[in-house]
Amino acid sequence: MTKTLFEKICDREIPADIVYEDELCVAFKDIHPQAPFHVQLVPRKPITMLANAEPGDQSLLGHLLLTAPKVAAAAGFGDAFRLAVNNGAAVGQSVFHLHIHILAGRPFKWPPG
Ligand code: ADP
Repeated sequence: MTKTLFEKICDREIPADIVYEDELCVAFKDIHPQAPFHVQLVPRKPITMLANAEPGDQSLLGHLLLTAPKVAAAAGFGDAFRLAVNNGAAVGQSVFHLHIHILAGRPFKWPPG
């Protein structure tokens, strides 16, 4: 099967500014940052979108949520960051490999647009 863009980044076949990695996930700077700190946290496993995660992915999804605050904290934003997951093209998902946006470094409006 063809690798997703983010699998290629995880496998270092496409360059990216990687800020964190472990055996399950990789975090790298977004190529079009929407905030002073904008990182994509992705599982190495190419789950297309959150809705397609399976019961067997439970610990992986937990690991991602426990890792995101560490990535933010390592950049000095441990007290104020936003996570976002776009699930589906209709809400803006453009890369079909699950990714958690980690954004920080500016004020954020609520509700998000
Ligand atoms: P959107 O593109 O609307 O933000 P997604 O939620 O699918 O939708 O987010 C994909 C994210 O991946 C975008 O923020 C985009 O800037 C980022 N991105 C795309 N290609 C790369 C790349 N090669 N390196 C880093 N980030 C990338």
